Amino acid sequence: MTGVAEKLGSARVLLADDDESTRVIMRRVLENAGFEVFAAADGVEALELFRRSSPDAVLLDVDMPGLDGFAVCERIRSIETKTETPVLIVTGFDDNESVDRAYHCGATDFISKPITWSVLAHRVRYVIRAGEAFNDMRGLLRALPDTIFVLDEQGLIKSDSKNLHAFGAADEAGVALRVFENFSNSGNRPALRRCIRKALDTREPQSLEHFVESAGVHFEIRFVARDRQSVLAIVRDATDRKQFENRIYDLAFFDPLTGLPNRSSFGSELDDIIGTRRSSEAHFAILFVDLDRFKRINDTMGHSVGDQLLQAVAERLSNCTRAEDGMSRVKANEDTAVRLARLGGDEFVILLRDVASAQDAASVATRVINALGEPLVCESHQFVVTPSIGIALYPQDGSTRDELLMNADTAMYKAKAAGRNNYKFYSETMKVRSLQRLDTEIELRRAMDRGDFELYFQPKVALSSWQIVGAEALLRWHHASRGWVPPTEFIAIAEESGLILPLGSWVIDNACERLQQWTEDGLGGLTLSVNVSSKQVYSDGLLVTVTNALRKHRVDPRRLELEITEGMLMRDIEQTIDTLGKLRAMGVRLSVDDFGTGYSSLSYLKKFPIDILKIDRSFVQDLHTDPDDAAICAAVLAMAQQLGLDVVAEGVELEEQLTFLRRHGCDLIQGYLFSKPLAAADFEDFVRVHAGAGDKAAGL
Ligand code: C2E
Ligand code: CA
Ligand code: CA
Repeated sequence: MTGVAEKLGSARVLLADDDESTRVIMRRVLENAGFEVFAAADGVEALELFRRSSPDAVLLDVDMPGLDGFAVCERIRSIETKTETPVLIVTGFDDNESVDRAYHCGATDFISKPITWSVLAHRVRYVIRAGEAFNDMRGLLRALPDTIFVLDEQGLIKSDSKNLHAFGAADEAGVALRVFENFSNSGNRPALRRCIRKALDTREPQSLEHFVESAGVHFEIRFVARDRQSVLAIVRDATDRKQFENRIYDLAFFDPLTGLPNRSSFGSELDDIIGTRRSSEAHFAILFVDLDRFKRINDTMGHSVGDQLLQAVAERLSNCTRAEDGMSRVKANEDTAVRLARLGGDEFVILLRDVASAQDAASVATRVINALGEPLVCESHQFVVTPSIGIALYPQDGSTRDELLMNADTAMYKAKAAGRNNYKFYSETMKVRSLQRLDTEIELRRAMDRGDFELYFQPKVALSSWQIVGAEALLRWHHASRGWVPPTEFIAIAEESGLILPLGSWVIDNACERLQQWTEDGLGGLTLSVNVSSKQVYSDGLLVTVTNALRKHRVDPRRLELEITEGMLMRDIEQTIDTLGKLRAMGVRLSVDDFGTGYSSLSYLKKFPIDILKIDRSFVQDLHTDPDDAAICAAVLAMAQQLGLDVVAEGVELEEQLTFLRRHGCDLIQGYLFSKPLAAADFEDFVRVHAGAGDKAAGL
């Protein structure tokens, strides 16, 4: 007993019994156990003593004169501050009704008579300890901002569980209840049930989050299994935590000055893309944008101006990257084609996903340079902030994020070294090609305006008579610094950029002008062929261009030939047949260029209104050494004769080739053996000299 006494210290027990002997024995037993005991002989005295002594436990006999045990218990419970003191009802009537009454009047437990004296002190000790634990718990719950109630398996609030609201402050409990109802009524009941089921099955706490949009409040609901059919639902307002998390997220992944993704989120996005793209064919480009001499602005104007400028630059950059792809400033985990980030200081970086070519990256770089070219106004000062841009391409310029960023950075320094306000590719060949392409496009336009183009003429000679019957017009570009630029270097670019349409029209007009000139110069019998690109054939303008040119220069349409490539006959067949048919109806002759390089058969060609075949240079080239090529040429010549088509062999350089072609009945040849393409005046001289030589030969 000493042990118990020591532990309880001066715990106080109030006991009330009208039977004196019971009172005496109880007091002795309890005092022996170390309690301080107050004894009352009736209910009124018991209440009186309760108020004075503030006991830790109360033992009440049920059957007392005046106020009985139940009544005393009820009054004790009604004393606001003492609602938790454990009250044991000592009852002689060991029946359900008394136990029920005890429960309803707020008793903690009951002891039935006859009292087992040996366990009385222990019993009292237990209720005191349980009371303390209960009080601790209640204190704890009060301190917590949570509201707790009981849910059944279906997620319905159990009727008696509303008592639990008492644990939370009344208004909070009300809010929590509304949140819960909002949650389970907005289509979340299945999720709710699943969560409850899981909590019941696993006995592990589960949680759900819910945002009440109308209130702007974020709630977390946790579920803890209570028994086999119900859970405690603990509802907590998590708005602050959420806001905090968002703030942490923003700080971790976004640059506070510009609101753009920062280096670390940009880096992890790169990692993601590289991780998922490694096996696929996709490409992307990184543009490292550094502002030129920004430090000087910062040093002379102060950091606040510097910051405002950086914000303005960020705005410009996001506008000009957004323009193409309809993107907005977005969080790092969303999937977009263009991502702009600030790496720090005056360094920005642009990620272009799925770039088809270095050319795409170059044109974004150009757009950035143009966008920043407009002065920025800041605190009534005007600033022009120019960028230097380094471009790295995946996968050729690096396979990891560090490598790519480093190489883009290196390229950026090259751009600075090259005079700033421009861009450089990390990889030299890419740089050269892409730069040239872009330059070429710009220069082509300029050349059009300035008239830097000229037509050269390569004679075609008839094998039967060895007379020049016509020529092919070949385009030449005289470039101020590069000299003569061969068409192989610019026709494709002109086609891609659409410049081929005006350029092609110019060629047709110029060719007709030349035909007219030849007539005036006594060379009216010559034909002239013009190369036509597929873009021209598919555009509506070709017919008009040809008609106008013929009319303007009063040229007989039969002297004009259009060379189209075999590949053109394979696409848009209806439209091509239609266009070609109309041209043919005008009298214009049509020839199939580079014949043999495509897949069309001669019988397929019958569909088209064709007059002439040009055997591709590649077959002619090896005619005398490669039996296959010889066989092809021979077959083409034989079949063309059957179809009534003329055949021109182009690229004839050697006597052996000539001999072969002559033997197989080729009509015309064109090639260095006879003549290279010549400037207009040289061509006319050549024709005259040749005719003279022919006349001489004929006269001999
Ligand atoms: P193409 O139509 O096959 O023109 C023949 C090309 O072969 C010309 O090159 C000509 O100079 C070259 N050639 C002629 N004889 C020989 C020879 O004996 N040996 C060798 N090795 N080459 C020979 P060019 O002038 O550089 O033109 C290249 C291509 O550019 C042309 O090929 C044609 O597809 C295109 N092209 C030229 N002018 C125009 C034009 O006005 N419009 C369009 N759309 N394309 C053009
Ligand atoms: Ca040609
Ligand atoms: Ca050709």
